[in-house]
Amino acid sequence: MQKKEQIYEGKAKKVFATDDPELLIVDYKDDATAFNGQKKGTIAGKGVVNNRMSNALMRLLEKKGIPTHFVRELSERETLVKRVRIVPLEVIVRNLSAGSFSKRYGVEEGIPFEMPVIEFSYKNDALGDPLLNTDHALALKLATAEEIGIIRSYSLQIDRCLQSFWGECGVTLVDFKLEFGRTADGTLILADEISPDTCRLWDSATGEKLDKDRFRRDLGGVEEAYAEIMRRLEAHAE
Ligand code: UDP
Repeated sequence: MQKKEQIYEGKAKKVFATDDPELLIVDYKDDATAFNGQKKGTIAGKGVVNNRMSNALMRLLEKKGIPTHFVRELSERETLVKRVRIVPLEVIVRNLSAGSFSKRYGVEEGIPFEMPVIEFSYKNDALGDPLLNTDHALALKLATAEEIGIIRSYSLQIDRCLQSFWGECGVTLVDFKLEFGRTADGTLILADEISPDTCRLWDSATGEKLDKDRFRRDLGGVEEAYAEIMRRLEAHAE
């Protein structure tokens, strides 16, 4: 597959066109940002971990019937994906309290929920990705009611599948962020990435954080955490 011109550079990835108008190449960088780009840094080897983890998890989800943008891993940092128009909703799924949930509602981190909590935020950097509900998303025409129904259903299935996978790795899936996109024919598929940048992953035995919170919160051992979560994944992925 021929890598052609760069069409986009985000905080953690570059995206290139290919000879096929329906396919793109994603190239994962080691750059890390937090707090809407206010904190910047580099995490050596992160691009490799995020590429390989995201691909392994998307392959797993495909097997469970969730359509994803994943096509083929091309190198340790590059993956061929289907071109989509991203639905401007960040879908957050929470199994335990943490992060902005704990802050907003004044509760400690690590409280398990009886049912997963799904949250939407409007994917808009200039506005700081504000939280919104289904009515807001419909009023803003970010997605149709049918699409929101599909997104909720896929998100809950993805949560069950990933909780079970990470559980076998001795890891608690605290929360994560998903993005969906529409292909040329309007089909909704899972896009973006599933990685320690977009998930909270805690060692089930010790509670140790094995995700980007080590960078956000200056906890140290950032590279080591990415390497450790990758080791856990590779020991279990097929
Ligand atoms: N998240 C993300 N991108 C964002 C915001 C959140 O990937 O722009 C992920 C984050 O890594 C965590 C989950 O979504 O796993 C929930 O994040 P939260 O709303 O608690 O926000 P934070 O505390 O990270 O600002």
